[in-house]
Amino acid sequence: MRINVADLKKTPGAQLEISLEEPLPSLAEEGVQEVRLLAPVRVDLRLRNVDGVILAEGKIRAQVSLCCSRCLKEFSQNLEVAVNEAYSDAGDFPGKGEEEEDGIIFFSGNYIDLTAAVRENLLAALPMKVTCREDCRGLCPRCGQDLNLGDCGCRRQEIDPRLASLGKLLARE
Ligand SMILES: [Zn+2]
Ligand SMILES: [Zn+2]
Repeated sequence: MRINVADLKKTPGAQLEISLEEPLPSLAEEGVQEVRLLAPVRVDLRLRNVDGVILAEGKIRAQVSLCCSRCLKEFSQNLEVAVNEAYSDAGDFPGKGEEEEDGIIFFSGNYIDLTAAVRENLLAALPMKVTCREDCRGLCPRCGQDLNLGDCGCRRQEIDPRLASLGKLLARE
């Protein structure tokens, strides 16, 4: 996800509006379950040269595949994430690589590569506890049945122990 900023970086006060759509590999990071991207990632940004620093503000839209923590099914979710990054030409700071410092990402040459920032912002936007829908009933802890598809026998007894003992009484007669 590279943007040509050759003209922008030369002109303080200049602006550039861009829209990109590119497929990205799945999101993976230590401690995060791998997350597949189901569609190309769309980025709409406004880049501004403010005193030689290039500010990038806008939106990322992505469709990811997540695994429900209750019923363990995969489902697709749309993410819309705000981006707010600052880039600076490493050439203005001799000795800088392309690493980040004080929130500023350094680039060399005429291109800014957005890929790292897009991935980071998407990862940060993933919910901690993922459910396929708010009222997902999950799996029966005893027999493993997906309770969204219907009740299993064991669940009813767990809900109300009084009904369960009544059930036993009835069964005895
Ligand atoms: Zn679920
Ligand atoms: Zn069950």
